[in-house]
Amino acid sequence: MRRLDGRTALVTAATRGIGLAVAKRFVEEGATVYLLARDAERARSVVQSIGAAGFALADLEQPDAVAAAVEDLLARAGRIDILFHNTGGPRPGRFLDLSLEDWEKAVRHILYSAVIVTRGILPGMLANRWGRLIYSTSSGVITPLPLLHLSNVVRSAVAALAASLAPEVGPFGVTTHVLAPGHIVTERQQEMQRYRAQQERLPLEEYRKREQGAIAVARFGRPEEVAALAAFLASDEAGYLTGQIHAVDGGFSRMVPVYSEIYTREVVGVQQWVTNDSLITSSDSGA
Ligand code: NAD
Repeated sequence: MRRLDGRTALVTAATRGIGLAVAKRFVEEGATVYLLARDAERARSVVQSIGAAGFALADLEQPDAVAAAVEDLLARAGRIDILFHNTGGPRPGRFLDLSLEDWEKAVRHILYSAVIVTRGILPGMLANRWGRLIYSTSSGVITPLPLLHLSNVVRSAVAALAASLAPEVGPFGVTTHVLAPGHIVTERQQEMQRYRAQQERLPLEEYRKREQGAIAVARFGRPEEVAALAAFLASDEAGYLTGQIHAVDGGFSRMVPVYSEIYTREVVGVQQWVTNDSLITSSDSGA
């Protein structure tokens, strides 16, 4: 007997990275898995390669398309017992570089899609007296990350949604969870490392070493490590956990933040950074 035998799951944004690893693990655990994706060719190829049941197409930034895709999936699947809500990453940038349109897009993509998918599948979960709502966000909902305002703020709203829903749906056997991944090796993570190295004017390898030094277990994570937790949370065994944020970040969000250098260096002319074992200060501030 596998953990998710007899369950039907929906995984959004599942054609690569964390979403793909979760969809694959859910299939391995015995679930019937549907994907919600925006690219038909990639979705078809993923469905085939991992043995998922099918997919529906929607750009998560388009609320009407998301609602229609969920309706279509429900009609085909009959029921959805497990939701793993994942999204693409919003634009990085300094606060004043972000337009109101960027904010609106991020809210539609991350928050509205979570609300719309949940609205679609929750009535069935309540009627069946069983459900798992798992929202994947970022370690930025625990410790906000510099240059990621859209992610920090909008994902925190999703975390609040999960906490807010927990007592309302709990009596019906439906539990809610927030995953807060950090430094998981995926294409997005590699793009972000290139972006941050550029912002800090550091060679990529040097930047990577510093990032690694800010992680308690001193290494980056694997998408499969996020999937392992998702599989447990989606199972019957996790029935007494709800409304929680689960960091899957190698301890990163429990460490002293080092990134503030990005800001302070420019503004006060202080170059200060924390290495693994020492605090080095070189400044014109008289320190
Ligand atoms: P990724 O970029 O490798 O994968 C994102 C997936 O989302 C892809 O399948 C992509 O096609 C899909 N997607 C993007 N925009 C979409 C849209 N508008 N509509 C439908 N699908 C869309 O990212 P990842 O590293 O696997 O991370 C998944 C999410 O978790 C991202 O939002 C990322 O920002 C966030 N996150 C990742 C990490 C990490 O360490 N990798 C850490 C914190 C948060």
